[in-house]
Amino acid sequence: MNPTHIEHIGIAVANLDEAVKLYERCFGLKCYKVEEVTDQKVRTAFFMVGQTKIELLESTDPEGPIGKFITKRGEGVHHIAFAVNGIEEKLKFAEKEGMRLIDHVPRKGAEGLDIAFLHPASTGGVLIEICEKKNS
Ligand code: ZN
Repeated sequence: MNPTHIEHIGIAVANLDEAVKLYERCFGLKCYKVEEVTDQKVRTAFFMVGQTKIELLESTDPEGPIGKFITKRGEGVHHIAFAVNGIEEKLKFAEKEGMRLIDHVPRKGAEGLDIAFLHPASTGGVLIEICEKKNS
């Protein structure tokens, strides 16, 4: 897979505004963007830490993926996102390696990235997102 770096860490939160305040106050980080991704039923807030982002995720719908996650497991780390080059080829590679793909074709995520998720059942219990910033 050869990721170039950890693009972001996704953290599920119950209340985005409160979580943003906490990250700003306690960690001295500055939220540079809040974005709603209707497709995934989330509102997201971003912080930059070096070249890695922290992505806070608040569900806009209890039936959405983050809503279900919080009901089942509470707040906490939701996924780790690896930046890759050539996401389509990486997905084919993952499938060949026997990983379970949640997305067989990349879709648009927050920040205009092409993203795809790998099922935690095939990655040691961690939901992995691979993503690529396309210039177009
Ligand atoms: Zn993500």
